[in-house]
Formats: sequence, structure tokens, C-alpha cells
Amino acid sequence: MSKKILIFIGPPGSGKGTQAKLLAKNYGYKHISTGDLFRALAVDQNASEKEKQALEEMKAGKLVPDWLVYGLAFKEVKKNLDAGVGVVLDGAIRNLEQAQEYQKFFEKNGWGNEVQAVEVSLSDEESFNRLTKRRICSKCGEIIPYLPSTKDLVSCPKCGGELVLRKDDSEEVIKERIELQGNKTLSPILNYFSQNGVLTKVDGTKSIDEVEKEIQKVINV
Ligand SMILES: [Zn+2]
Repeated sequence: MSKKILIFIGPPGSGKGTQAKLLAKNYGYKHISTGDLFRALAVDQNASEKEKQALEEMKAGKLVPDWLVYGLAFKEVKKNLDAGVGVVLDGAIRNLEQAQEYQKFFEKNGWGNEVQAVEVSLSDEESFNRLTKRRICSKCGEIIPYLPSTKDLVSCPKCGGELVLRKDDSEEVIKERIELQGNKTLSPILNYFSQNGVLTKVDGTKSIDEVEKEIQKVINV
């Protein structure tokens, strides 16, 4: 029997978002991405003035204030768990303090023992490769991730079109992203869940299918 609160953690390019979505779909859980919650709030006509202001500041490059993260994510978690639906949290926890705040919130609601953290592990080097070497089909726009199963493809598996490198960001920007969201930053969060005895780790270098199977194995113990 798996836990009701699954927290996915992994560096950029690890595929944790893909895996979180797959798992939510397979288990009938709700996938909760804080990025999606912010995007939804931005078009929500009932957003408060304070929330709107925080979103404006976010656009200008400021960090999302903790109260907004908690306000949106906690509400969504509670809504689903109260209705008996498990949740998969994706990208919700960015530092140790947030991990502790989430845990307090879970305990306050009687879900202290319902937490399982899943680390999709990937080295910073592999993370960099995946973000700089993924390709896109020049004909149909299909994105080809840099994975063992796809890195040697010479043409689009969907339409046969030519594959070209997809460079959204400069290597400098990607390096900075890995510096901020990579293993160095994740380490205290992972330690925290490990000390709580709720951390499981899967090897993110494998194919999407293999990682998915491995996750299903570890969350059902
Ligand atoms: Zn194509």
C-alpha cells in the first residue's frame, strides 16, 4: 500500500516531472506542480491583491514568497486528501526550511505518516548534458530528450523529420540553473527525508519506462 503524499525530488533534466505525472495518472493521484499553481493563479479572477502583487514581483525575477507557496500548495493538498485522493508533489520543495514547513503542515492534519519522498537521482554532469543536448524535430516539433534510448536517433520517430539541437537557454544559464536547483541544493532536503526514514532513491539515468517501473516497485513496499 503506498503512502498518500508522494514528494518527487530531482535535479533539472532528471525527468521527475514526467515521472510524477505518470505516477499520478497510474494511481489516480493528483499531480500538484507549484509552477502550474502559479500559472493558474495568474489567470484566476478571484486572486487577491496581495497575490497579484507577488506574481508581478515574481515576473520581475524575485523569489516566490513562502506564504504564497504554502497558501497555494497546502490548500490543494488538503482539498485532495480530504476527498480521499492521494497527491504527488512536483517541484514543491526548494529548501530545507520548506521541507520542514510542509512536514509540520502534514502532521497538523494527521498525515505525518503518509509521506514518501522519491529521489530521481542524476549527476549534475548528466543534468547538464540532458539540458544542452536535447533535440527537436524540425518538421513536427516533437522534443527528443537526451536519454540512452533516444540519444542515437537520427530522425524523428513520429514523422521522420530532421532533428536539430534545441537550445532554449545558453550554457551559462543552464549552468546557473543546475547550481541553484542541482544536487548541492537538494542535498539538505534529501538528508532531511532520509533522517525521517521516508526517502527512496531511483536511478534517473535509466529510460523513462525503467524509471517508472522502479518507482512503482519502491513505493509499494
Ligand atoms: Zn517529427
